[in-house]
Amino acid sequence: MDWLHQVFWFHGRFLGVAWTAWKVVGWTGNVAFTSRFFVQWYATEKRKQVVVPVLFWWLSLGGSLVLLTYALFHDRDSVFIFAYAFAWIPYIRNLMIHYRNERSRLVCPECATLAHIGSHFCHQCGAPLAPSTLAASPDR
Ligand SMILES: [Zn+2]
Repeated sequence: MDWLHQVFWFHGRFLGVAWTAWKVVGWTGNVAFTSRFFVQWYATEKRKQVVVPVLFWWLSLGGSLVLLTYALFHDRDSVFIFAYAFAWIPYIRNLMIHYRNERSRLVCPECATLAHIGSHFCHQCGAPLAPSTLAASPDR
């Protein structure tokens, strides 16, 4: 287990990093931003087709804003700042489109599957869909 100790604790520091509050902020952003790839990969492997789950966009937005904060107030490196200065725009736009699309779908009264407006029957169970089953929950 000495090798494990060497991996996490070297140069007398955890991961060899001189930890400060700003380092915690920066690494939190890195973990959030990097974890989105694993979320997307997992969703794709699970469905056996390329899927970009909504959590991917939330992790992209959160991670990039934390990294932008770190870049602006700690690192102050123009390359680092520019890399995250405008990234939030497509992330927010994708979230807006996602939630707008979800609001416009019908919920199957039999199996709770979401179907697109214009569908007359559930693609999952075949139950008839009525306009009154519109997903109108404001928190979605
Ligand atoms: Zn159904």
